[in-house]
Amino acid sequence: SIYGDYIKSVIRTVPDWPQEGVNFRDITPLLQNSSAFRKLIDSFVHRYQELDLDAIAAIDARGFIIGAPLAYELGCSFVPVRKKGKLPFKTISETYSLEYGHSSVELHSDAFQKGDRILVMDDLIATGGTMLAAAKLIQRSGGQVVETATIVDLPELGGSRRIREEGHNVFAVCS
Ligand code: 5GP
Repeated sequence: SIYGDYIKSVIRTVPDWPQEGVNFRDITPLLQNSSAFRKLIDSFVHRYQELDLDAIAAIDARGFIIGAPLAYELGCSFVPVRKKGKLPFKTISETYSLEYGHSSVELHSDAFQKGDRILVMDDLIATGGTMLAAAKLIQRSGGQVVETATIVDLPELGGSRRIREEGHNVFAVCS
C-alpha cells in the first residue's frame, strides 16, 4: 500500500514479549504519532471508500482502534467482535486453537442483516486463527465478508495464506 514502508517504520518490535522467543510488533508508537495514525486510517479509507460496505466488524481490542475511525469516515456501522464473555446480549461464538490451548470470539446474533457487506479488521495477522474465526462468525450470521484487513501481516506464519485458502481477500498495510 502507498504508506506501507512509512507505517512499518513506526511500528516497534519488542523482543521476548509476552514470552521468550516472541518478537511482539507494538503499534503504540504508530498511534502516538498523529500523522502516522492519520496516514494509516487514510490507507483504509482510500481502499474501501468505493466498496459500499454496510459494516466494519473489528476484533477486540486493537482492531477497534482502526475499525471505529474507518466506520465513522465511511459512514457505515461498527460491530465489535469480542473475546468470550464480554457481549451482554444473545451471542454466537467460534472457538479456535492457539499454540497452547484455545480461545473464542463472539458476536451479537443481531449484528448483521442477511447479505450485509462486511469488512473484518484486526491489527495483525499471525497464524490467522483469530481473523478466520471472526470471518466464520460473520458468515454464520448471514453477512458477506468482502475482505479481511490488517495493519501488519506476518507472512512467515502463514496466516494470510490460510485466510486466502478459505476464500477471503486479505489486505495488509505492511508485512
Ligand atoms: P493469530 O490469531 O493470527 O495467530 O494472531 C493475531 C491476533 O493476536 C490478533 O488479534 C493480534 O492482535 C494478536 N497478536 C499476535 N501477535 C501480535 C503481535 O506481535 N503484535 C500485535 N500488535 N498483536 C499480535
